[in-house]
Amino acid sequence: MAALFISMSEANYIGRFAPSPSGPLHIGSLVAAVASYLDARSNNGRWLMRMEDLDPPRETRKAADQILTALEECNLHWDGEVLYQSQRYGAYQEAIDTLKKQELVFACDCTRQQIQEAGGVYSGTCRHRHLAAGETALRCKVATGLITFRDRIQGVQSQHLDKEVGDFVIKRKDGLYAYQLAVVVDDAFQDITHVVRGIDLMNSTPRQIYLQRLLGLNEPAYVHIPVIVNDQGQKLSKQHMASPIDTGSKEKISYLLFSSMDYLGLAPEPALIMESPGDILAWGIAHWSVDNLLNQSELHEKIQQ
Ligand SMILES: [Zn+2]
Repeated sequence: MAALFISMSEANYIGRFAPSPSGPLHIGSLVAAVASYLDARSNNGRWLMRMEDLDPPRETRKAADQILTALEECNLHWDGEVLYQSQRYGAYQEAIDTLKKQELVFACDCTRQQIQEAGGVYSGTCRHRHLAAGETALRCKVATGLITFRDRIQGVQSQHLDKEVGDFVIKRKDGLYAYQLAVVVDDAFQDITHVVRGIDLMNSTPRQIYLQRLLGLNEPAYVHIPVIVNDQGQKLSKQHMASPIDTGSKEKISYLLFSSMDYLGLAPEPALIMESPGDILAWGIAHWSVDNLLNQSELHEKIQQ
């Protein structure tokens, strides 16, 4: 009978990890996975998995499977089925149709170079051109006014979408749905209440909040954690030569989990590295606190050592 009773915190918290499968898991994405996992589990929450495989030629099922295998090897077990964005095009189109009804969508054939030359903020050039949709991108009109949210680590964040971003792409010229749209539709579909992700995505959050409001969706709480960068200050990624994590033995996995918590700033006791992956994660759940996390420059310093 006890299983019928779900505590409020369990019912309330739903987190997620949403990697883009453009290559195998590297230490940068493992740190993000560990952070969102620990935040969810320390709140007795659910932790869902989503593959952001919107770009099939670049993102393969093989890479997605490699990521999932590596997470399982690291004892990072998710709840429920994996959601694949490549299976969700119908839902994204529905969201675009909803925005179209609000007369917020227009076709645009401006090139990235034209926008860069005009200062990087899209000035609404095609708003009134009434181009036929076809070999064009679709943009969502932004409104004036400030979008503000409170990040649990970074504090209050604000952005004027019209002055700092401009009307933004929701469907690309090549027919692929844009990340900004898909992430909003899927966070709502998975009932996500808490988003924990890298600070490199914080600039996107106001656009996502704006779309949530237009589509009548709930707004999750956001935490943006520092990301591991290379010597050139670039976020680790397949493009920037991040090597896959080595999950070849229990000791290696313990080392990876220990290092992830160390990078995050949880200051694990050195002896913890000798423990099993499950015990290290249990320690992390017990000691998780966003107040103790390193900021971006502290993390950068730590990696330089
Ligand atoms: Zn345009």
